[in-house]
Amino acid sequence: MTIKIIPPSLVAGVVMSSFHAEGTCTKPRTMTDISPPEASTTARMIFQALKQSSTEFKIAFIDNCADAAVTSCYDNTINTIFIRADKQYLLTEYSPRVEMLPIVLLYHELGHAKQYLDGAGERLVKEDSSATYTGGNQMSWKGGEKVAVPKRGKISQFNMHGYSMNLETNNMRLHEWPISRELGVPLRSKYTDICEA
Ligand SMILES: [Zn+2]
Repeated sequence: MTIKIIPPSLVAGVVMSSFHAEGTCTKPRTMTDISPPEASTTARMIFQALKQSSTEFKIAFIDNCADAAVTSCYDNTINTIFIRADKQYLLTEYSPRVEMLPIVLLYHELGHAKQYLDGAGERLVKEDSSATYTGGNQMSWKGGEKVAVPKRGKISQFNMHGYSMNLETNNMRLHEWPISRELGVPLRSKYTDICEA
């Protein structure tokens, strides 16, 4: 077994070292809390792949935290999944808004772990942060004349928001969307179509 739930007593230390912020776990979780839903082939595939790997993946549930900097995410430097279990996430494109199931959130983050296990994670992040934008023209001076030249520059999504859109889109397409369909729950169309309750 190489998926481990970090015991509540150790969560504060991991949160502090990863986020430099305070966050604790008050309620112990068991394997039942992280087991893939029977109805989702994709979630079961992710769980099996992580479980069978030689890397130990750790999950930290945080249910008592006042710091917005502590987010649900996968920290690939320490193979640790962080889950803000004290928060509720809503899909903003539905009226009324629909909650993203906690199990879908958990498997979104486990999906990132799978991306890194496959080697795709590092590649996708690298591509995103080094890609150049050539989608339009800008005016520039050339030999004393003003001419249109293709715009070039780094794609800024990664730098602006601190996440890699390539990585997130790949994760939604391969993991989050299939899982949502298998469970028969609404899914977000875009990565950003979500907010805290
Ligand atoms: Zn993500």
